[in-house]
Amino acid sequence: MTIGGEAAPTEATFDVINPATGAVVAAAPDCGREQLDGAMESAAKAFRDWRLDEGARRDALRAVADVLSSSVDELAPILTAEQGKPLRDARREVAGAAAWCRYFADLDLPREVIQDDARALVEVLRRPLGVVAAITPWNFPVTLASWKLAPALLAGNTVVLKPSPFTPLSSLRLGELLRGVLPPGVLNVVSGGDDLGAWMTGHPVPRKISFTGSVATGKRVAAAAAPDLKRVTLELGGNDPAIVLDDVDPEAVADRLFWAAFANNGQVCSAIKRVYVPEALYGKVVDALADRARAVRVGDGAAEGTELGPVNNRPQFERVAELVDDAVRGGARAVSGGSARPGDGYFFEPTILADVSDGTRIVDEEQFGPALPVIAYRDVDDAVERANATHFGLSGSVWSGDPDRGAEVAARLECGTAWTNTHLVLQPHQPFGGAKWSGVGVENGPWGLLAFTELQVLYRSRG
Ligand code: NAD
Repeated sequence: MTIGGEAAPTEATFDVINPATGAVVAAAPDCGREQLDGAMESAAKAFRDWRLDEGARRDALRAVADVLSSSVDELAPILTAEQGKPLRDARREVAGAAAWCRYFADLDLPREVIQDDARALVEVLRRPLGVVAAITPWNFPVTLASWKLAPALLAGNTVVLKPSPFTPLSSLRLGELLRGVLPPGVLNVVSGGDDLGAWMTGHPVPRKISFTGSVATGKRVAAAAAPDLKRVTLELGGNDPAIVLDDVDPEAVADRLFWAAFANNGQVCSAIKRVYVPEALYGKVVDALADRARAVRVGDGAAEGTELGPVNNRPQFERVAELVDDAVRGGARAVSGGSARPGDGYFFEPTILADVSDGTRIVDEEQFGPALPVIAYRDVDDAVERANATHFGLSGSVWSGDPDRGAEVAARLECGTAWTNTHLVLQPHQPFGGAKWSGVGVENGPWGLLAFTELQVLYRSRG
């Protein structure tokens, strides 16, 4: 771990498993309570100076980006070993994190004059909040760490970062790589189980919790933050609908639909998790998706040519199997896949489920894995109503031969991002957040930066 700019060894450790093989790849440090106190104290101490010099922070963030860019060869294999994703995707993830840091390094911290007259000069400033507790999940450990670190640090906050116990290694290594780049205490990286996350959210030092993870944990985080009125940003689960309109060519959209559902083996908060298709096109869309699912190369992410890796961890692997079994027991048809792969590792065949409808668990819940239900609908109003009949509201998409018609329908989706003829496009300047139970607040863009600040009015009387 990295605390106060130095290595912080622990007595206790926990195993990290390579999901492609089931073998232990490393023993990760298990942070104790006193060590967490030390991390919080060092972050609080570092905050005193870090907040003062905006120019130095911008330079430091550019240096962080350079370290990420020059460490792709080192970090990507670590990420693949702990997460399972193909090496090519792991490399892209690390490079993307560098791009995010560069974007924020140049982003303006607004200082607005709202009154300038004989009575007063009144300005609105943005002050940093203090220590930020950053907690990330196991699907994109490096990406999601950068989404928090870059804006938090630019705004003048200091950070204690805790990755998921399933994927701690890339974040721990990043902490090591940045020891000489950031002043001691500005970024502390600790690792441990879910208890450690709860200790962080209940700790008196952090003034903000930036959390990405499941809805259930997000609610616990919100409850833990409430007594101390800590600020929170919650990026939570999704059950994104894709609505296919009756004017599409199924073959033309199948590839894009497939990859928007199965990227990262379906383990993306804003992946397509259910597809609504007009009755007239239903068979064609199902077949086109199943063709792609059968053709995709599933394997160890470290092997050349792998397109989809394993599910990241055993509980998630069992959950995907359980939801698919439940659907099939209820009458759904697995047109491709439908079962786990025999042998080592948490491999599940890419699964397209047909003859399934709302009210089935895999349609109503977030499956977060390589299984996609395809649902027939009668008319567009019916599809929109069913797409919105959920507590989730992360994102969604509409697919149409007429982009204007598609965008009109997309605007009716109750979610944070509604795409037309694409899905999963996330960019540093584009705010990302969930409606309803999918989150509170947004990340990215100027909006995401401001979420790591609070307003201060500076009033100079001239009277
Ligand atoms: P999770 O909620 O189980 O864990 C997320 C993190 O929270 C981990 O670091 C975990 O150790 C920690 N944690 C667990 N209990 C805690 C507690 N009581 N207090 C504080 N921290 C605690 O989620 P996961 O299984 O790692 O990730 C999958 C989920 O994340 C999916 O639901 C997915 O949709 C969601 N997700 C959302 C986004 C987004 O931006 N909206 C992005 C990626 C993933």
